Amino acid sequence: MSGENILIVEDEEDIAELLEYNLQRHDYVATSVGSGEEGLQATRESKPQLVLLDLMLPGLGGLDVCRRLKADPATAGIPVIMLTAKGEEEDIIAGFDAGADDYVTKPFRPKVLLARVKAVLRRGAAKRRNDDEPLTQGPLHIHPGRFEVTVDGLPVELTRTEFRILSFLASRPGWVFTRGQIVKAVHGDDYPVTGRAVDVQVAALRRKLGAGGRMVQTVRGIGYKMDDGTGVDTDPDANADADSDADAGENELADGPK
Ligand code: CA
Repeated sequence: MSGENILIVEDEEDIAELLEYNLQRHDYVATSVGSGEEGLQATRESKPQLVLLDLMLPGLGGLDVCRRLKADPATAGIPVIMLTAKGEEEDIIAGFDAGADDYVTKPFRPKVLLARVKAVLRRGAAKRRNDDEPLTQGPLHIHPGRFEVTVDGLPVELTRTEFRILSFLASRPGWVFTRGQIVKAVHGDDYPVTGRAVDVQVAALRRKLGAGGRMVQTVRGIGYKMDDGTGVDTDPDANADADSDADAGENELADGPK
């Protein structure tokens, strides 16, 4: 579906124009503003269906704009895709922690941009699941209320923390979560979880899930997500690499809790 209003917040005019051009070609209604302050104001006034937000803006920066939009109930539900310089993983993580929904790196490929826009709009339109509702994603079936997981119908034994990480990722398939967000979500268990511990838990989780392990995808340098079957991969190469990393580290994890 097209016709949605998309607000572009970008101070570099040529990039803003290129974004507008590509979105309008695909029947989106795209408008752009050149500063964070204008971005906030325009979002509050015109309530776009999506905001494309550059992080490096003069004055009020993109991260602050994102935080303010997500802190305001009137705009919190509007998805934000941040625009970051290629390879700036710290920016991407900070953006997710500020509440951004996805990111596109500059220079962007139109195909990637449009795929992200489409995916984020579609996710935004999907109804939010009840957290206790059973969920099927690929070969995985997760029953949060019962702490049960099956892969292709066969039960899998997980620790509480592994289960929480899996349920958390599965609650919003396709969404990328940083290690920080995962730690926050599973915190409250009987021991502290660190970012590094998340990697260890995920490696063990994948191993236990067997054929279902591929559903838990690494987004290199950023965090993890549950495969939503859209084929919109954040970085297709990342998973191949990360999987081999995880395999190499598995011997260290052989004493994982049962
Ligand atoms: Ca900029």
